[in-house]
Amino acid sequence: MMSAAPVETPPQAPLPSRVRTTCPYCGVGCGLKVTRKPEARDVAEEPGPSSRMQPSDAAHAEPARVGDALEIAGDERHPANLGRLCSKGAALAETLGLEGRLLYPEIRGRRARWDEALDEVASRFGACIARFGPESVAFYVSGQLLTEDYYVANKLMKGFIGSANIDTNSRLCMASPVAGHQRAFGADVVPGCYEDLDCADLVVLVGSNAAWCHPVLFQRMLAAKAARPHVRIVVIDPRRTATAEAADLHLAVLPGRDALLFNGLLDYLRREDALDWAFLESCTEGFAAAMAAAKSAGSIPAVARACGLDDAAVAAFFRWFAATDRTVTLFSQGVNQSTSGTDKVNAIINVHLATGRVGRRGSGPFSLTGQPNAMGGREVGALATQLAAHMSFSSENVSRVARFWSAPSVARRPGLKAVEMFDAVAAGRIKAVWIMCTNPAVTMPDADRVERALRSCDFVVVSECIRDTDTASCAHVLLPAAAWGEKSGTVTNSERRISRQRAFLAPPGDTRPDWWIVTQVARRMGFEKAFAFESPHEIFREHARLSAYENDGARAFDIGALAEIGADAYDALEPVQWPLPARGQSRDSSRLFGDGTFRTPSGRARLVAVQPKRPAREPDEAHPL
Ligand code: SF4
Repeated sequence: MMSAAPVETPPQAPLPSRVRTTCPYCGVGCGLKVTRKPEARDVAEEPGPSSRMQPSDAAHAEPARVGDALEIAGDERHPANLGRLCSKGAALAETLGLEGRLLYPEIRGRRARWDEALDEVASRFGACIARFGPESVAFYVSGQLLTEDYYVANKLMKGFIGSANIDTNSRLCMASPVAGHQRAFGADVVPGCYEDLDCADLVVLVGSNAAWCHPVLFQRMLAAKAARPHVRIVVIDPRRTATAEAADLHLAVLPGRDALLFNGLLDYLRREDALDWAFLESCTEGFAAAMAAAKSAGSIPAVARACGLDDAAVAAFFRWFAATDRTVTLFSQGVNQSTSGTDKVNAIINVHLATGRVGRRGSGPFSLTGQPNAMGGREVGALATQLAAHMSFSSENVSRVARFWSAPSVARRPGLKAVEMFDAVAAGRIKAVWIMCTNPAVTMPDADRVERALRSCDFVVVSECIRDTDTASCAHVLLPAAAWGEKSGTVTNSERRISRQRAFLAPPGDTRPDWWIVTQVARRMGFEKAFAFESPHEIFREHARLSAYENDGARAFDIGALAEIGADAYDALEPVQWPLPARGQSRDSSRLFGDGTFRTPSGRARLVAVQPKRPAREPDEAHPL
């Protein structure tokens, strides 16, 4: 099972003095320019290896913070931000120090060499699989990983270990839009793009404090409103947030009543004859059932009462929505992170389908992703409920992926989702877990229970940048990962735009990129040929090839046009939106479904009958939301 191949340091290309890269903080995906200040080019950093910045005579320079030697600015050529930057992105240079970094592999608290640590991980996982089967191991990954990292982790677990027990922390924030998009459109697709915010006449934000969480996009909305003062902004949120402060109308809806409010809107649109009957008849299905469910919301006063709102405020929102063709409805964690999040997503999509406002300039439902690469994880399939490249676990897909990967034991059914995974760890069914780039002992619901589960687990591996996290303290093996600025690859933002992240710092100590760590373990588990990757570029090409493999257009995620991209072209890749199929490369990918054709078997979008549920538990003083 194991090969004790020596560890070679990945080749290090000289780092340029200026790179265009992507902000690692949020799903807006802003482009950045990172420039080394001329006067600081011979500056080293303290503490840590002296060669962190190049040129290499840095070792003899006065110690200084690496961030002081860099200038970070918005990239005016990047379509996501057009040069804008929020305070978080602007302060990125301050995060580049080595304080708290995990710099060397550790086995049970002892500093180890890479080959020892990799052998330990491969042999312990291998032994577990041999004795208890592939379902006894799991990976818990992260929307902070790059797409190339994600791809190899998913390939190893689903293709070669033969289990689908890989799930991502994006499960916690994005599972509802994934399921809502699949129900409505037949594919996990955000139909619109950021440019829609420039030309919408009504912007509705539901459960989204974009002013804080997606600041550059929010500034873009305010700029559009300043340029075209008739533009209205409506915020639907129980809290009076900074976003609500800037709105024309704030509906402080009672927690958990969003679906009821949108059902009420759907019924109002019918009563006011504001539906797009031609679109409904030719491009959708499920209208009658969705309408029947919506009718129970009742009149405007009934909706207002149930939602804890003023009649006049609800009436104004309904009137504006009915009258405004160019309407974008953005939604985020206030909708998604709910026991009925998927229904809330579909209640929002329903009103857009009923008015034909999908995939048209300035109109559409728009899920804002939280993490920088939540979308990339969805694209490679690193959710336990997907196989790979937007494919489900149908026998046809399993066979297709097995042929593509030349993998004999591809997982045939969904694996454990995040909460189930840690329950299985607690119950002893998962005996070895590898956590990459995330801190579930803090971030999972009922985090103390997760920490107890990890402490009881036979074998815990953590790949991390930071030495002392709550999760790292549970690890038997710690693997030092390269951080933003030290690694290269791609990320995808909320508008389906793939951007390059580019390294501008040498990895300190023994840190390595996540794709390299996964690949090395896979080789030691006996899968050398399938994980012969030597660079993120090679992984990206395979990822692009899989997206296009036997894809006759049925799968929306297709970046086949990039399947043969060369190393130089990958290095220089400009931000691009998918789909980007090999055929029809000139097609505009900025908006999808504008032609009324969807990815369901019938080609029609589905309105979903949403029966609003009362929250499982009403808010109280201790739990006000
Ligand atoms: Fe970074 Fe998000 Fe701010 Fe853009 S809006 S600079 S991606 S944190």
